[in-house]
Amino acid sequence: MAEPLRPATTAVHAGRPPHEPDQPLNGPITMASTYVAGGDLEYGRYGNPTWTAFEDALGALEGGRCLAYASGMAAVTSLLDLVALGDKVVVPRHSYNGTLVSLGDLELRGRLSTTLVDLTDTDAVVAACEDAALVWFESPTNPALEVADAPAIIAAAHDAGARVVVDNTFLTPLLQKPLDLGADLVLHSATKYLAGHSDVQLGAVVTRDEELATVLKGRRDVQGNTPGPFEAWLALRGLRTLHLRVERAQANAAELARRLADHPLLTEVRYPGLGGMVSIVLPTADQADLLVRSTALWVHATSLGGVESSFERRRRWKSEPATIPEGLVRLSVGVEDVEDLWADLSQALDGVARPSG
Ligand SMILES: *Cc1c(COP(=O)(O)O)cnc(C)c1O
Repeated sequence: MAEPLRPATTAVHAGRPPHEPDQPLNGPITMASTYVAGGDLEYGRYGNPTWTAFEDALGALEGGRCLAYASGMAAVTSLLDLVALGDKVVVPRHSYNGTLVSLGDLELRGRLSTTLVDLTDTDAVVAACEDAALVWFESPTNPALEVADAPAIIAAAHDAGARVVVDNTFLTPLLQKPLDLGADLVLHSATKYLAGHSDVQLGAVVTRDEELATVLKGRRDVQGNTPGPFEAWLALRGLRTLHLRVERAQANAAELARRLADHPLLTEVRYPGLGGMVSIVLPTADQADLLVRSTALWVHATSLGGVESSFERRRRWKSEPATIPEGLVRLSVGVEDVEDLWADLSQALDGVARPSG
């Protein structure tokens, strides 16, 4: 076909066996720790056809070469490993917790230095890029849902000779394509929207830089932070409906954010206008804790991006930055009927708002 495929078609078709007699429509799960010698694969840690199918599909969606990892954090630590001794990393103060914890640990051990920035202050981020080797951001941020001026930050990082990593877990390639914006590397926790059913742990990196891809592949070969074949298969199965799930989750999130904006109990409703994540702020931690215990459909759980709606008071984690309000509850809006989600959430909010007696 002459025209490049649209993302929905790519999500459904990429990474499948060829249309030939007796080929299955879906590639099998190849359970193998070793292969007959003399080919390209050789050993289980070096490659697996089921990983490759997932990598081909996500690579096609992001527009680069993809490498799958055992988890999002396995991908994060592999990319942080690219930083040379003593290099400076610029990262938003509201980033994924595991990323901040890893950076803190590396800094404590003298491996690198970290500069935390307020992602909404573009001038400050641009200034911090000046002597950086790596600029790393998520947009929107977790769980503050702040949005970056990505083109300005990427340009400043490149002017400084720094590499740019964008963690695209929250928006997926359907809503944001960081490589098209100039980023060098895209990272995913495929555990979230890409797999989409709260049953898989998987990570991925995508880049257009072939040299970098070769370095990362070589390290993955020896570090062994490789995915399980079943996990890669489940993530690819999830990816087939990514566009449908993201579309519904986003429509539900936008509608809930609109209705929540009028709720007298909430001091703040944050929704960046796209994606399926909404953060609400209750006046106190106790009220937020009561809310997450008062619903029937919404499940109190960490993680996000599943078909089922879940929510969490983020400050229940000791490592969450103190700049996140105590009463902030992050909603991962699922693909259920929005009226049922609203009925469950609004009765719980009304119960919290009613003075107990
Ligand atoms: C969950 C998450 C990660 C880590 O991924 P795991 O699959 O849990 O290891 C990284 N970045 C973001 C934005 C995440 O939400």
